[in-house]
Amino acid sequence: MTPRPGDGGPAHLPVVVVGGGPVGVTAASLLGAAGVPALVLERERDVYHLPRAAHLDDEVMRIFQSLGVAEEVLVHTRPMASMQVVDANRRVLLRFPRSRHGPYGYPAANMFHQPAVEQVLRTAATERHGVTLRTGSEVARVEQTAGAVRVHARERDTSSEFVMDADFVLACDGARSPIREALGIALRGRRFSQRWLVLDAVVEGGLAGFPHAQQVCDPRRPATYVPMGGPRYRWEFQMLPGERTEDLTDPPVLARLLAPWVERSRVRIDRTASYTFRAVAAERWRVGRIFLLGDAVHQMPPFLGQGLCAGIRDAHNLAWKLALVVAGRADPAVLDTYEGERAPHVAGITRRAVLFGGVMQGGGRGGHGMRWLASRAALGVPGLRRLIERQQVPGLRPGPLLPAAVRGPGMGGRLLPQPVVMLPDGTPTRLDHVLGPGFALIGFGSDPLGDSTPEARADWERLDVLPVTVTPPAAAPHAHAVNDVTGVLTDWAARHRASSVLVRPDRYIFGVAGTHPRAAPSPDHLAVLLRRALRRPAQGEAPPFGSGSFYSAARYTSMKRR
Ligand SMILES: Cc1cc2nc3c(=O)[nH]c(=O)nc-3n(C[C@H](O)[C@H](O)[C@H](O)COP(=O)(O)OP(=O)(O)OC[C@H]3O[C@@H](n4cnc5c(N)ncnc54)[C@H](O)[C@@H]3O)c2cc1C
Repeated sequence: MTPRPGDGGPAHLPVVVVGGGPVGVTAASLLGAAGVPALVLERERDVYHLPRAAHLDDEVMRIFQSLGVAEEVLVHTRPMASMQVVDANRRVLLRFPRSRHGPYGYPAANMFHQPAVEQVLRTAATERHGVTLRTGSEVARVEQTAGAVRVHARERDTSSEFVMDADFVLACDGARSPIREALGIALRGRRFSQRWLVLDAVVEGGLAGFPHAQQVCDPRRPATYVPMGGPRYRWEFQMLPGERTEDLTDPPVLARLLAPWVERSRVRIDRTASYTFRAVAAERWRVGRIFLLGDAVHQMPPFLGQGLCAGIRDAHNLAWKLALVVAGRADPAVLDTYEGERAPHVAGITRRAVLFGGVMQGGGRGGHGMRWLASRAALGVPGLRRLIERQQVPGLRPGPLLPAAVRGPGMGGRLLPQPVVMLPDGTPTRLDHVLGPGFALIGFGSDPLGDSTPEARADWERLDVLPVTVTPPAAAPHAHAVNDVTGVLTDWAARHRASSVLVRPDRYIFGVAGTHPRAAPSPDHLAVLLRRALRRPAQGEAPPFGSGSFYSAARYTSMKRR
């Protein structure tokens, strides 16, 4: 913590994160990685010991990779091979295989044990330079002054109070978010509220006959079954109006509920709990210097396993923008794009989750054929099928940092794929390790700045964009290029008629240059658009963090180390 110079007042920090759940510690680690000191204040001493989330997608794994924890997280996950939609008699209506090799470098669907993964994230945060985690510290209130947010907190063990100032506060304080409440921000949403019983259990010897996750379309009682990895299993059962938790955990009732999969005597129950699933989002994601993230700003039913994934995306979306603003490299107006990009994205996924809940209701109380038809019809809804079938979440809408003019069809608002590429010395590595932590401009087959004017080159340097040359699979090794050994990027570029692509720090595509009518005519046009988007002056400014050269020694070393 940095004391305020001279006045002996409270410590002053760039960022205070309220809440050390998975979203809070991820946000703090991302900020720390971007060079922004962050303090996390967490009410509880330990990680919450019971799992809630069960599934993470490959975009989230890619984010964990950027923090250097993907391999450790993978130890606590199991790739999901397939998801089945079954009827009340467990007959398979639809089957959706999940790729073990998703486009972003990880299995498309990963089942995980939340407490173990949260512990990995928490440890990573405490080990990250610039990040401090203070557990047992409860934030009592926050107040905004002209230039800062004053945070009032207390140690729970001693009741001693402390105060600090922050340039920004990230409220990652969960679904009941005291900060959201204090700011008077309402939650708005769909007329959706369902109570479900969640049961986590260990079945020694496993359930070999049920290797796939199942969504049970049973109009009498929709259910979910998830093999979590090893001997761990999750069941979720919708509760009927008036039902209490103890009505379903009553031994004979529970035995009947589990009977389609396993005899009750083989099941060691870790916990049962009832949850009310809702589909809501805050009417505002930001008030001045305070931002809401994760469950504090949105809650969705878990039928698509996307609630936490959305929270981790919030953290990723905001962290790099905050880092640019704190470093004086972007105008604070850039921070408005956080809500602008994230709110419609979350709304889209929530809508799909609710629709899928409708599929699980089985399309009414008709017969098997009716339910099958209802499932089919709902799955025809644009986007829902893609999300369920290919695990493809919707893209981000155009905005200042996603200019519509340079996003071709099918690419805009999406992440660049992350294949393995070959370094000049023959070492294979994941693409993001080459792209580094900031903006990157990839040239397909040639130096993306090869035709740039000296003025444009200076522009790229001032914007601190890393130029990277990617050669096609059969190309001879080149000392200043990485090779696209799998051909994934070369195919992508051909499909989009792109000669180069500008990628944001969160790996979303800013725009492409190439011959497509909706591409920029040259990479230098992208520099102009980026400068405008960040509201950076055109001339007369030294590069803030040195040259963006691909082979600057520090970057190359860190690239090889990861
Ligand atoms: C049954 C169920 C199944 C789910 N399945 C999935 C799934 O498969 N995939 C998925 O992506 N998501 C899933 N979710 C959603 C997911 O669990 C949540 O979105 C996620 O855990 C929220 O993380 P968070 O960090 O935003 O909030 P939390 O985990 O709630 O963390 C908030 C933290 O803030 C702290 N805090 C609160 N107030 C204060 C204060 N005043 N001062 C200091 N600290 C404070 C709390 O102690 C807590 O540690 C599921 C949820 C449920 C209930």
